[in-house]
Parts: sequence; C-alpha cells; structure tokens
Amino acid sequence: MHIVLISTPIGFIGSGKGGGVELTLSSLVNGLEVKGHTVDVVAPKNSKLIEAGSKTKLHFVEGKEQNSWQHQDYYSLVTIPDNSLLSGMIEKAIDIGKKADIILNFSYDWLPIWMTLNIDIPIAHIISMGSESFVINNLISNVYAKHPYNFAFHSKIQASDYPFIENPIIIGNGFKLSNYIFQDCKNGPLGWVGRVSPEKGLEDAAYVANALGEKLNVWGIVQDESYASKIEKLFSPGILQWRGFLETEKLQKELGTCRALLNTPKWNEAYGNVIVEALACGVPVVAYKRGGPSEIIEHGKTGFLAKPDDKESLLKYLKIINKIDRNNCREWVENNASSDIFASKVVDWLNMIIQVNRSQG
Ligand code: UDP
Repeated sequence: MHIVLISTPIGFIGSGKGGGVELTLSSLVNGLEVKGHTVDVVAPKNSKLIEAGSKTKLHFVEGKEQNSWQHQDYYSLVTIPDNSLLSGMIEKAIDIGKKADIILNFSYDWLPIWMTLNIDIPIAHIISMGSESFVINNLISNVYAKHPYNFAFHSKIQASDYPFIENPIIIGNGFKLSNYIFQDCKNGPLGWVGRVSPEKGLEDAAYVANALGEKLNVWGIVQDESYASKIEKLFSPGILQWRGFLETEKLQKELGTCRALLNTPKWNEAYGNVIVEALACGVPVVAYKRGGPSEIIEHGKTGFLAKPDDKESLLKYLKIINKIDRNNCREWVENNASSDIFASKVVDWLNMIIQVNRSQG
C-alpha cells in the first residue's frame, strides 16, 4: 500500500505539544515500513520522526498551528487561521495522495474530516480523543453516515463518547518494543508522565506522593504554566520533581527505574500511551478506572485501577504495588501493543476502506 499520513496541526512531531499522537504516528510508520508499505508523512516544519527508515518521506508544511480542542469550550466554533498549517497540510496530502491508495489523518479537526465527503481519494481517520467538540462530534456523525468504515478509535471506552457509531473499529495502539528496556527496580521512586495540563490531573498524583512523604518525578511538557505553578504551591517544596520533556530513549531509561507510574486522568483518556510505555519498561501502573487506562491495565496483574478521583484509593493500591510481578507488565505489552500488532490492525482496516471505496466506484 501507498499511504499518506497527515500529522497533528497542534505542534511539530518532537515538540510534545501534539501529545500521544506524535509517538503513535512514528510507531505506526515504523510498523508499516517493516511490512513493506510506502509511507509519506505530511507534518509541520521541524518535525522529526522517531522511527522512520529511509523509505519514508517527510513533507514539511509551514503555517499557523491549530488550538487543541481539549483546551477550548465544547461549543466553540471551528477556527481556521490565516496561513493555516492544517489547510496547508491537507492541500499537500491531497496532492501526494493522488498517487496513493489512501490518506490516513491523525488530526482531530474539522477540515480533514469534512474533506472525506469531497474528494475521491479515501480518507481514514484515527480519532485520537473522546468527544471534545460539539461541531466535530456532529461532523463525525454526518460523515460516518456515508462512510461508516472510515473512523477508528484507540479504545472502546473512547469510542463510547460517540454513541452514534455502531460497532466501532478499535485499533488500540503499539510501540517499538526494542526502544524500551525492562528494568527490575522494585524500590525505585514514583513517576508521573504526561502533558502538564488540567485534564491530566497531576495534583492527585502529587497528593499521593505527599501523603507517602515521597517525591514525584514528573516527565512531560508544561502546557499550562499557571496550572503547574498552582499545583506546586499546594505541596511542600521538592515533592514535585520536574524532569522536563525527554525523548523516548531517555524517558524510558528514567521511567524504568520507577517502582510505579501514577496515571490520574480527569477526562475520557482515549488510550494513554504513557501507561504502555511504563509497562514496557516493567513499571506497574496505578490509574483511575477511566478512559483507555481501564482497558489497558489488568487489575492486580499489571497494576491497579482506582476509583476515579478517589485519591485514597490510589494511595491504597500504591501501598501494595510490589505484589505486581514486573515481568507481567512487559509481557502484556509484547502480546498486545507492539508496533507490529498495531500496524497489522491498521493495515486490515485501511484495506477494508480501500475495498469498499473501489466497490462503490
Ligand atoms: N512524552 C515524551 N517525553 C516526555 C513525556 C511524555 O515523549 O518526557 C510522550 C509520551 O511518550 C507519550 C505522550 O508524550 O507518547 C503522551 O501521550 P498520552 O497518550 O499519554 O497522552 P496525550 O498527551 O495524548 O493526552
């Protein structure tokens, strides 16, 4: 297959602003390449694919970034700025797509989804968030009525945010496992990884570390400075150890030394890449039973699922974290979330769309 991928218009790949989509896209490119597919990636200028080999072409587009939907009001209107990065990326993808089999869109935005109705090249969409916009929700519903196979989701619970989708296509996610080294560190520190932004609930993880009189290592981009400083003031100095945004190679090295990862989403987390990355290093996860994490973590086997927003429940499970055999964590990722498994699911899905498209002429 020849596939054209459209990246997120929120930030360049490697900036951290695009969240999990950055790693998901890179891992998929790797999985597709290994299977012998030809991939073109259309992405913001300065993007760097973590995994691509020499066969994948990266096409840069310049322009003004979109605002992420999770930081806008649900009923906000769609905004497309002058010199729009998103429209530039779509123009480029359609141009390259004329010679390709399919376009695969990673951007959670109005324009690429609407284009599905208006060009002959099939466009598939990996929906990377729960329902975060009224306009986009309704657009997905309209496009889905005509193209029911063109949307895929990372988890069942994420897809349930779109109740009009019957039998949603669930593709999970997957990562290149050789990038993550297993570490057997039962006595290590506590870790938290993610964009520092209200929907990620860092304050609850900090509460737990504080209650145990321990430090909490925090890795990730500070997307909301005022939120970060507000949390910092809530706890004794030094509880939060800001480790910054690291590339995968360094992140996994440090993360692997943790005895547990805390994951405290306040929204319907679509998947939760960081959970799988922790498990791949052998680090068990204590997370709220909400969104994707509730489908990834096997309660009592690879970590624990705490009652959502119940910090005491987090604390209770953290105290028994050493009951988890760290080998179970790595094993789950090997059996469920490698880039090969992920790419196979995506290829099957894209083939189905191509066939349906051809049969409809
Ligand atoms: N991440 C990273 N370096 C860091 C912290 C985070 O590369 O120091 C990446 C991590 O690998 C993951 C992403 O940030 O792919 C966060 O994705 P997740 O799905 O957990 O949440 P999202 O940001 O998409 O809501």
